[in-house]
Amino acid sequence: MQLRIGNGYDIHRLVPGRPLILGGVRLEHPLGLDGHSDADVLVHALIDALLGALSLGDIGGHFPPEDPRWKDADSLELLAQVIALVRERGWEVVNVDAVVVAERPRLKPRIEAMRASIAARLGVEPDQVGVKATTNEGLGPTGREEGIACHAVALLQKP
Ligand SMILES: [Zn+2]
Repeated sequence: MQLRIGNGYDIHRLVPGRPLILGGVRLEHPLGLDGHSDADVLVHALIDALLGALSLGDIGGHFPPEDPRWKDADSLELLAQVIALVRERGWEVVNVDAVVVAERPRLKPRIEAMRASIAARLGVEPDQVGVKATTNEGLGPTGREEGIACHAVALLQKP
């Protein structure tokens, strides 16, 4: 059995007038993430981890922000396309794990919903999807609530 690991990182600005969507789950918050797609920073970091595991480049190469097709795109749809690419090559997800860095809102009550929506789109069990939330203790751009960041890893196997 072969194994491959990948990591991903993303950050988006928090701005007024945008919905806040993390892991496909809409959260109540006066600010949302800015971006060409729905700016789901958690799903974007996972996509980069999956692409990275197979050295397939990054999210910007597969879904260029200047392409009107991805305007306000549902990032879970992009994740579905990426997992199809992974499976076409004969690979399966062992697990993915992510940590979202956000000062506010409190994410803990919605973590299970995020895990379930990501797992459904990946075609894996929720226990193969780790999602954690942390604050940045008031430090840096995430600590000042200028944005939300996410770090992710993905482990793939090929029987
Ligand atoms: Zn992004």
